[in-house]
Amino acid sequence: MNKVLVLGAGQLARMMDLAGTPLNLDVKAFDVRSNKVVHPLANEHTYGDLQTGIDNCDVITAEFEHIAHDVLAVCEASGKLLPSSDAIKIGGDRRLEKALLESCQVANAKHKIIDSRADFDAAIADLQLPIIFKSALEGYDGKGQWRLKSMDQAAAIWADMQDFVEQANTSVPQGIIAEQMVPFEREVSIVGARSRNGEIAVYPITENHHTNGVLSVSLAVASTNALQEQALEVFTKLTEKLDYVGVLAIEFFQVGEQLLVNEIAPRVHNSGHWTQQGSDCCQFENHLRATLGLPLGNTELIRPTAMINILGEDSVPEQVLSIPGVAMHWYNKSKRAGRKMGHINVCANSEQQLAEKLQLLASILEPNAFEDLQDFADRFQARLG
Ligand code: ATP
Ligand code: MG
Repeated sequence: MNKVLVLGAGQLARMMDLAGTPLNLDVKAFDVRSNKVVHPLANEHTYGDLQTGIDNCDVITAEFEHIAHDVLAVCEASGKLLPSSDAIKIGGDRRLEKALLESCQVANAKHKIIDSRADFDAAIADLQLPIIFKSALEGYDGKGQWRLKSMDQAAAIWADMQDFVEQANTSVPQGIIAEQMVPFEREVSIVGARSRNGEIAVYPITENHHTNGVLSVSLAVASTNALQEQALEVFTKLTEKLDYVGVLAIEFFQVGEQLLVNEIAPRVHNSGHWTQQGSDCCQFENHLRATLGLPLGNTELIRPTAMINILGEDSVPEQVLSIPGVAMHWYNKSKRAGRKMGHINVCANSEQQLAEKLQLLASILEPNAFEDLQDFADRFQARLG
């Protein structure tokens, strides 16, 4: 078995191909917009329609969770889809996601499903302000979210959400979830793989920083065992419940020493991109290994690493490449404001050295394009004392 079809032809499929090539794996991508199977690195090369792609592969997997259910159904019918369509759908619908968390008794933010104005009023009464409302379907990068901080915003937010739900063009009805805003100390995530035979390998938890609702920096440094254990326990519960195969990511809010699940992603994840340089076997390779039934690779942190997202920019000063331990990853995408265009991984021999390299990067990169990087670098340095 060595042929993989990825549903979705974006940067995650691209990086799966880059990771799979040294193992002689043949990775192709299904572009859901053109309905064609394409080369993950050169989308202009096409290989026929979905059925042709299904017939010519050993395993089908997905790089994103918002995939039309009829596409998932034909893939599942072939017996080749991993993870299962149920797992993919759960990642794409916050209602199903919350139900999974509740059924596994996994700690998460207090929430309510909103189907009517009465539910909306009840949610406001039950959950304390501030409340965050999120669309059930198609939420990503902070899109489809409304923050209610004071009651004078309630009428406008309700009207806006109603329009949003009515205009939705989704195969299952769109909906809204109300969630208590969690006063978290920080956001972390765990990325890990579960193989066909139930073997689990997780990477160390990663600290995540968002700018305007979008991930901007992930930091992978040694963490406390207690937090890692908690995250692993949640990972194990959820993946076993789903009989999950492949890489899965779980985002958490850390409140004191407790982790509350924010959301899960049934796929390789932006907060796991650091593994390309900070581990022996990156998340993309481990996802391929897991779905193909190969032994999983080492997930230990081998050196402190930070990942910096490049948002809305198609170039950075060449000087960045002169810093030892810096690796550039461009996605070959056309420039659009806020779009994820690439990322920079920076590795060091110690946390102190990583802090110094982050300072250097912050001084080279355009501050308007990397808004919070200087602030992040300063806080990281201060933390080290
Ligand atoms: P992404 O695809 O980038 O992960 P998303 O659109 O799926 O984002 P969430 O992860 O649910 O959305 O929310 C985006 C960010 O908004 C979170 O990372 C967090 O910073 C903030 N946020 C979301 N829910 C809450 C909450 N209940 N309390 C506090 N902050 C929250
Ligand atoms: Mg998120």
